[in-house]
Order: sequence, then C-alpha cells, then structure tokens
Amino acid sequence: MGIKYIPEPFRIKMVETIKMLTREEREQKIAEAKYNLFNLKGEDVYIDLLTDSGTNAMSQDQWAGVMKGDEAYAGASSYFKLVEAAQDIFGYKYIQPVHQGRAAEKVLFALLMGEGKYSISNMHFDTTRAHVELAGARAIDCVVPEAADPAKRVPFKGNMDVEKLESLIKEHGADKIGLVIMTITNNSAGGQPVAAQNVRETADICKKYGIKFCIDAARYAENAFFIKQREPGYENTSIKEIIKEVFSYADMFTMSAKKDTIVNMGGLLGIKDDEELFQACKGRTISFEGFVTYGGLSGRDLECLAIGLYEGLDENYLRYRIGQMEYLAARLDEAGIAYQSPVGGHGVFVDAKSMFPHIPYNEFPGQALAIELYKEAGIRSCDIGSYMLGNDPDTGEQLHADFEFTRLAIPRRVYTQAHIDIMADALINIKERASEVKGYKITWEPPILRHFQASLEPIEE
Ligand SMILES: *Cc1c(COP(=O)(O)O)cnc(C)c1O
Repeated sequence: MGIKYIPEPFRIKMVETIKMLTREEREQKIAEAKYNLFNLKGEDVYIDLLTDSGTNAMSQDQWAGVMKGDEAYAGASSYFKLVEAAQDIFGYKYIQPVHQGRAAEKVLFALLMGEGKYSISNMHFDTTRAHVELAGARAIDCVVPEAADPAKRVPFKGNMDVEKLESLIKEHGADKIGLVIMTITNNSAGGQPVAAQNVRETADICKKYGIKFCIDAARYAENAFFIKQREPGYENTSIKEIIKEVFSYADMFTMSAKKDTIVNMGGLLGIKDDEELFQACKGRTISFEGFVTYGGLSGRDLECLAIGLYEGLDENYLRYRIGQMEYLAARLDEAGIAYQSPVGGHGVFVDAKSMFPHIPYNEFPGQALAIELYKEAGIRSCDIGSYMLGNDPDTGEQLHADFEFTRLAIPRRVYTQAHIDIMADALINIKERASEVKGYKITWEPPILRHFQASLEPIEE
C-alpha cells in the first residue's frame, strides 16, 4: 500500500448494528425498489454511501447539546449561540437558520432572480439548479475545463473558469445575471476544492459588473483544509482564518449544514451587510420555514449546529476525514479504477464511463454502477451524471452530462478502515466483470429532481 490510513481521532461510545443480506436478497430488494436506490429501505443497506448529507455521527458534546437545546418559539438561547458562532467563523453580520440548504436557496433566490435572468456557478448542485429554475431563471455552469477530465490531477479542479465567466457576463449582459454562485467544495465535480485566489478573482469580476456573489457553503471546512494543504501561502494559516478570508470575498452564503457541521439536519443563510436583503429574507423565512429565531429547526438542532460549526474546523479531524478518501483512492489506483482525481473532500466519484465504455450516457452508466455496488456488497451509492442531470427544461430532451460518476459519499465519523476496504474490494470485483453489466432505461419520471423518485429497468437486448 502506498498510503497509510490515518487513524480515527475519536473512539466509539455507542454502536448501531447493521443488517447483512445475501446477494439473492439484495437482487430482489433492488428490483422491488425499481432500480432506484432512494427507494431502498435504509435497513436493507450494509454500507450507506448514498450521501454524506445528514448522515454524520454527532459527538458527545453535540448529544449533550440535544438535552440543552432551548425550545422557546422566539428568542431561544440556542439561536443566539448559533448566530454568534456563525458570525465568529464567517464574519457576516446577518445569519438566518433554516431547515436545510435548499430552504436557504428557496428563501434567497426568488429575491435576486426571475424570468429572463441567469445564475452562473462553478457548478450548480442539483437543488441549487432546481431553485434557480423555480425562480424562473436559468442556471449556467462555468467550471474550469480540467474538471471534465477525471484523469487530470490538478490541485483546484473545482474552480470557476473566470475568463469564461466574464465572457458569459458580456454575452448575456450584467443586468441579466441575478447571481454568481461559488460552490465550495464543488460537489457535482467530485467534491473538488476551489482556491482562495479563484474566489477572490471571481469576486473581482462580480464587483466590476455590479453582480451579487454568493457562496454555496456546504463544505466550507473541507475546502479550507485543501487550501491549507495545496495553495501556496496558506501552509501556516489556520482553518478558521482561511474560512474568514474566503467568505470575506462574497456578499452572502447559503449552506446545507448537514455536511461539514456534522449534524443530521440544518441550514444557514448568511448575508454580509445588506440589511434590506436580510429583511426580505426574514419575511420569506417566516412564510416558508418558521419564525426567524428557529427557522424550521428544533432548539436542539440549533444547539448541535452551533457546536458542530466549531468541531468541523478541527485539523486532526479534517486530516483523518480527507485521509479516508485518499486511502480509498489509493486502493483504486492500485487496481486501475478511474475516478475523479485527485480525490475530493466528501467521497470518491468513480468514473463509470470508463468502467462501462459500452453503456451510453442515456442508459446511465453511473446508475448502473450504483446498482451493481448494491448487489455486490450492499453498498448504497448514487449517480452523479446524466441520470441525475435530467432533461432540458425547455426541450424535454435528456441532457448529456460532462461526467458519468458513481458517487461513494462518505458520512463523517461513521465508517472505519475495514468498511473502506469493502468498498474498494467491491469495485475491484465489479471491474472484473464490467463488460457484462447492462444499461438502464427510465419507465417513469417526475418533471423536476427526477433521480430521487424515478423508476428504472435494465435494458435487455
Ligand atoms: C447538499 C447541498 C445542497 C442542498 O442542501 P440540502 O441540505 O440537501 O437541502 C446545496 N448545495 C450543495 C453544494 C450541497 O452539497
């Protein structure tokens, strides 16, 4: 082995037993689930890598916070604790809790864009794209071209293509761009980091054209750890200082707190200093989420979130966390399995297009590999490719994604080295019989965010 597994900087105090099904049972379960892994029961999954969202293990301090949560409808102490923590870390004046990331998008986006407007992002996450479209606008992705080449190892593959950003602004007209969104890390490109310099350059362009700049901040801490590891000049800067600098370049952020803040539910909306915008957000929060001091969350959720915001910054934890990805990636390197490399922050994005060159984009190679992983080892993963991307909202045609990934998203503080080895072994076994694996077709789909609900069946010749 070329790389050492970084040991867990914690020990286990409470356990959850997991069920183990036979291969025959798994084949039956996935057929009953209409080949959609979101339809599986959690208890029928051995290693659940569907998402790192809300699947994290909380610490003893956070569980103590559950008991201390203040459930007052208005003015709960847990709310003030959370606002203070977020102000301290991000340096923004206004902080609004919401129930999860998409709620922040729903509250904010309709205030900044509508019909005829565009949102430009390094890459829109699926719910982000959905809320841009629900607000009546169109979403344009503008990631650096290296992101589309899974084999190309560059340090900041999640970056915005700043030259293309400027030409898109000129092409559509600055007044038509409702928002520029920087997703850190770049989830859809494989949890790839964005450099502090790239955030600064993007901010400069936004200022030049008078466009508002938002950070989609789900993985603010993992991104900061990559900056510290990879960006010259940041070796001796603390994670907290890096975060403060990165956020200083933007005007606002939306955050799914179900990721780097290591909780099971929560979201934040941050606005640097625009009081008028914050007032409007408060109004929409009350309509959609609940009163401003709880924003769709229980007091105990606010309390755990306040604690998790700080726990997520711990460098020993981040080194172990990113180390798990690097260990799995090294095992795939040894076996010659392609993935979005270098590995990103929250999971390994296996290149299903290269594993199954015989399956075209519209037969969903990423979904086919996810189904095989479940049959092989009870691992639940998900497609990040054409199946997730869906259809063009104007023409209804299947869109052709730049990548066909199967994402093995790793929950925080949940699985051990032995589990990671099972993931690697399963992928190696599937690779050996890759040419036998078939594509899939959709037999039913809803109009938006279809991958959560669609039904599929294997394509038999
Ligand atoms: C998870 C996520 C969201 C949406 O957040 P939810 O909490 O799932 O609603 C938005 N953007 C990114 C980058 C995410 O990873």
